[in-house]
Amino acid sequence: MRPDCLNPLFAEIESLDGVGPKLKKPLERLGLSRVRDVLYHLPERFVTRRVVADLDDGQVGENVVVALTVVEHRAPFNPGRGPYRVMAQDAKGNICALTYFGRASYTAKKQLPVGETRWVAGRLDQYDQTLQIVHPDHVAEKSDEAMGKMVEPIYRLAEGLTQPRIASFVEQSLARIPDLPEWIDAGTLSRENWPAWGSALASAHAGDDAKAKDRLAYDELFANALALMLVRQSNKARKGQSLQGDGSLRDKLQLPFPLTGAQTRSIAEITGDMAQASPMLRLLQGDVGAGKTVVALEAMLAAVEAGAQAAMLAPTELLARQHFETLRAMAKPTGVEIALLTGRDKGRARESILMGLIDGSIDMVIGTHAIFQDTVSYKNLGLVVIDEQHRFGVSQRLLLTQKGKVTPHTLAMTATPIPRTLTLAQYGEMEVSRLDEMPPGRQAIDTRVLPLGRLDEIAEAVGRHVSGGQQAYWVCPMVRGTESETEDLAAAEARYASLKNRFGDDVVLVHGQLAPEMKDAAMARFASGDARVLVATTVIEVGVDVPNATLMVIEQAERFGLAQLHQLRGRVGRGSEKSTCLLLRGNELSETGKRRLELMKNSQDGFELAEEDLALRGGGELLGTRQSGEEGFSIASLEQVTRLLPVAHDDAKLLVESQSGLDNATRGEAARMVLYLLERDWGVQTLRGG
Ligand code: ADP
Ligand code: MG
Repeated sequence: MRPDCLNPLFAEIESLDGVGPKLKKPLERLGLSRVRDVLYHLPERFVTRRVVADLDDGQVGENVVVALTVVEHRAPFNPGRGPYRVMAQDAKGNICALTYFGRASYTAKKQLPVGETRWVAGRLDQYDQTLQIVHPDHVAEKSDEAMGKMVEPIYRLAEGLTQPRIASFVEQSLARIPDLPEWIDAGTLSRENWPAWGSALASAHAGDDAKAKDRLAYDELFANALALMLVRQSNKARKGQSLQGDGSLRDKLQLPFPLTGAQTRSIAEITGDMAQASPMLRLLQGDVGAGKTVVALEAMLAAVEAGAQAAMLAPTELLARQHFETLRAMAKPTGVEIALLTGRDKGRARESILMGLIDGSIDMVIGTHAIFQDTVSYKNLGLVVIDEQHRFGVSQRLLLTQKGKVTPHTLAMTATPIPRTLTLAQYGEMEVSRLDEMPPGRQAIDTRVLPLGRLDEIAEAVGRHVSGGQQAYWVCPMVRGTESETEDLAAAEARYASLKNRFGDDVVLVHGQLAPEMKDAAMARFASGDARVLVATTVIEVGVDVPNATLMVIEQAERFGLAQLHQLRGRVGRGSEKSTCLLLRGNELSETGKRRLELMKNSQDGFELAEEDLALRGGGELLGTRQSGEEGFSIASLEQVTRLLPVAHDDAKLLVESQSGLDNATRGEAARMVLYLLERDWGVQTLRGG
């Protein structure tokens, strides 16, 4: 239960003055639905103004405060068309137009009576030969009212919202801040010289205060580290089952290749954990194509040998299906019973799988989250494998392992190359095995950067490639949940149409909004080699394996992050043939965009690219994995994560492990507070249940 004193912060945003049904939508688009969210909606930047005696003293483009005397009001010739202008002059007689569009003219009429002098704050612009200020930020009768806002926060907005509106919501929210106990370790607090939580929030909204922002970022990192640590601790305390296979099934495998050293080592680490009575929580980290699937298979077989069942969870239907096919083929000589269960299976087929899981006749099940629904019971689930686990949040991971009286062992797998510094942040609750060695014989992927303008040439190259018997991916960007989502989709469909013109039925299209059946049908045609070109949005990002596809074209490559580009590129270079990746760049390329593509050209090492990505993105940007459903950070910037996380991690560890730590009423209460406040309350659940 959330501590009562936090209730005012978790009150609906409608409880603020001025928030009605009309503003609810735009606020939601900014992720603001409760008072707490408003508090953490920190300014993007601050405008600093200068008081000038007259307009000669101000620069065009500068934010100024100046005293102006109103000369006349000029309404547009056609009401409602063109701006409303208020002509005013400074002490020297220089003329400046105060320009208002739309309804804002009503305010102008009220605030700027002819003949009166007003202090006006705003950005000095030039229009034709005249100086102007468009929609002044402030108009005040006395200079000190305008001066009070010499440094003003600028917030991220959504359509229908204005800066003063948000500022008013922030002000009201700040007034509701309760007095909370300090959760930061006293030593850290005094060493860093950080303000208390409430004043840190107030300062962060009032000016560019690095200490305040660091403290708030630290809170988030600390809450996350603490929650992960509590999960880990409670998992260790849970009742698991020791699974020690005798190798009888694994011996029957007839793999067409020897395992790499890294695979053998990882398998040993995993089966070693599984032999323990306390449940395993291990992450298998390995670049695309490093061979995680066979490691998972070995672990699952070990579980079956020991008389338990194993389940593998995939983030999409597509992947579940593909894993099912791969694993069934690989495991065929062992004779284990493998089933596929997705949300789409209904009726008889589904019933029979559910029966098989209860009576134990099914040894392994592969599926989407359907395999963990309430209606699904297992005879003895011993191992859960989560593929592409970055698609699932920590809280989801927790739910999965709570099936059954005995906690199953968990093996999470990810191909997201995460910089070492960030592994802690994301997987702090797990042990890590790294597949840091690629299977032999992999050829480097020839990566080239080309301007999008050469589209015709590129389509021709695809044609040659395809008529040579090989297959190609053509990727169009698709940015989810943004205004441009529909445009992106339209672009992908248009590209599909134009390629279809050229290649006829050899082209298929796959994107996230297709009906699952159609998606599968298209994928199946491509996987079987029947279709030669797959046009896709980023749904192919994870896991798809078609070795004969050796060409990848990525449109507007600069719009993807490095890590994502790397994942995409990993779809080719899977067979014995040489592979090529063409990165098509748009015309307007930022410096970062340019650098990114350059790096892609020069490196194939996912972990190296991840480190570079981190360095490139630097301060302002948020942890890039957020959009993929990862438990990311919304307050701490990437730079703050790398700088402050080690401290937060150590402090959290100390708190959890020290005797007086969480049992100490005061510190325990404060810790609970920060977990709820920063929405890591899944950590609290294990604290209480544990
Ligand atoms: P990922 O780690 O991306 O999930 P996969 O498990 O899909 O990688 O493996 C990629 C490809 O490499 C597959 O075709 C698989 O059969 C092959 N592979 C895996 N291990 C080895 C190995 N030790 N030697 C050669 N090929 C391997
Ligand atoms: Mg995989």
